[in-house]
Amino acid sequence: MSNEPLLKVENLKTHFNTATGIAKAVDGVTFSLEYGQTLGIVGESGCGKSVTSSSIMRLLPKNGHIVDGKIMFEGKDLAKLSQKEMLQIRGNDISMIFQDPMTALDPVYTIGSQIMEVINAHQKLSKAEAKQYAIKVLKMVGIPEAEKRLKSYPHEFSGGMRQRVIIAMAIACNPKLIIADEPTTALDVTVQAQVLGLMKDIQKESNSSIILVTHNLGVVWKMCDTVMVMYAGKTVEYADAKTLYADARHPYTWGLLKSMPKVTDDPNVPLTSIPGTPPDLKLTGGSCNFHNRCKYCQEICKTKCPEMREVEPGHFVSCHFTKEELEKIEQMGGKE
Ligand code: SF4
Repeated sequence: MSNEPLLKVENLKTHFNTATGIAKAVDGVTFSLEYGQTLGIVGESGCGKSVTSSSIMRLLPKNGHIVDGKIMFEGKDLAKLSQKEMLQIRGNDISMIFQDPMTALDPVYTIGSQIMEVINAHQKLSKAEAKQYAIKVLKMVGIPEAEKRLKSYPHEFSGGMRQRVIIAMAIACNPKLIIADEPTTALDVTVQAQVLGLMKDIQKESNSSIILVTHNLGVVWKMCDTVMVMYAGKTVEYADAKTLYADARHPYTWGLLKSMPKVTDDPNVPLTSIPGTPPDLKLTGGSCNFHNRCKYCQEICKTKCPEMREVEPGHFVSCHFTKEELEKIEQMGGKE
C-alpha cells in the first residue's frame, strides 16, 4: 500500500445538458479518502452529493458529463477510463449501496440468483462455490436461515432485510471502496441503527473505505472520520468530523447543525430551518452560491465566488469571511 490515499478527487466538475442550459451539478469539488476511513458527504437534496458519487462510479445519466477534474483511485484516473475498463472497477474495487433497496433489487429474481450473478460477474467460481459464497455473505449481514432465504424473492423480505441483502451484494467482492447513497433513509430508525452498525463492522473486518452520502448529520457523526459539506454543487466546508461539530466555520454548516434535532431540545421550541431555497444550478457562478440565503451576506458575496481556504490543518472553508468577521457582521445587524 502506497502513502497515497485510496481516492483523490481533484477539481471535479460534472455538468448536465438540459433543455434550458447547462446545470453545474458538481462544480470544482476536491477531497481525498484514506484506506479504511469513512467520508460523509452532506447537504440538501440537489447539492451535488449523489452526482459526486455517481461521477466516481461513472454511472451518470446520458446528459451528464465529467467536464473537468481527476478521480484518482489507486493511481488510475477513473474520469479517463472507458466504460469497459470501469466494468472491471465497479463491483470488484468499488461498489455502491443505493437508497431504496426495493428498486435496487429485481423483483422477478430470487435473492440467491441476484447475489450469485454479482459473484459470477467478478469471480471465477463454480455454481456450487458461488452458492456457498452467497450463503456466507448473507450470513455476514445477519440474514437468518441464509441457505433457505436464497430462494426468496425481494418482496418476501422486510425493508431492513432487503437493505442487508443490498449490503451483501455490495461486499460480495470485497471492494476497497463502498459508496453508500442514503443507505438508511428508507428504513425505520431502529433498523437504521442496525444497518449502520453492520456497515461499521464490515469496514473493521475488511478495511474498506466508505463514502456515505446523506442529509443526516446525526448519521455522519456516528459513522464518519471526515465530512464534506456541499451546497449547490460546491464544497463549502471540509474537515474531520470532530472539528466540524465542535468548530464549524461556514454559515451553511451552522444552519445544518442548528436544524439537527437533539434529545435535549425543548419540544415546544420549533427547529431552526434555513430560509429560502438553493439556487438554480444553471445560474450559479460569479457569486457565493449561498448568498441569497445567508444572513451574513455582504456586497462581495454577490459578485465574487469565495475561494476554498485552509483555516487550520485539514479544515477547509469556502467563505469570504473568518468566523470572527462573521460574528462582527452579526453584531452589526447581519446581511447588507
Ligand atoms: Fe455567506 Fe458571504 Fe460567506 Fe457566502 S461568502 S457564506 S454569502 S458570508
